[in-house]
Amino acid sequence: MRFTHKGQCHCGSIAVELRTDRAPAEQLLGACQCSFCRKHNARAFSDPKARVALTAAAPEHVHHYRFGLATADVILCRNCGVYVAMLLTDDDRIFSVVNVDILDDRRAFTGELESRDFDDETTAGRIARRKARWTPTELIDWPASATRDRDSRTDKNAARQGGP
Ligand SMILES: [Zn+2]
Repeated sequence: MRFTHKGQCHCGSIAVELRTDRAPAEQLLGACQCSFCRKHNARAFSDPKARVALTAAAPEHVHHYRFGLATADVILCRNCGVYVAMLLTDDDRIFSVVNVDILDDRRAFTGELESRDFDDETTAGRIARRKARWTPTELIDWPASATRDRDSRTDKNAARQGGP
């Protein structure tokens, strides 16, 4: 692929490599309107034609967080607190959305942000959409059992907290 972008959380415990054929300025990024992404003002990258590798340089710092319908894992660094990506696991296939602002050349991504609101989706619809639109992902040195928290308000708010 023509472009390789590297990045990591603030302390370097979790590294990302993103490969794509499209120039960064031409990438369409998502501004997901879910409650998690708004609190981070996150810009989301996903492209089924791109490829992502996530490497756990310090596996003990990989933290998985679930909320809403709990169909994806939010990847956070337990040490420095940075939001890295969201992961969907489907049998042995893994898909992700990457937080573009963890990339070293984040400023090269100058394209417009597309507002995305997925509140009205069903669980099945959400999983199908992610498999079609998220980026095929490889996990390297990933801990078999990452530490995991779940939003205790999940059941009350499930329908209102989508995720990208
Ligand atoms: Zn970190």
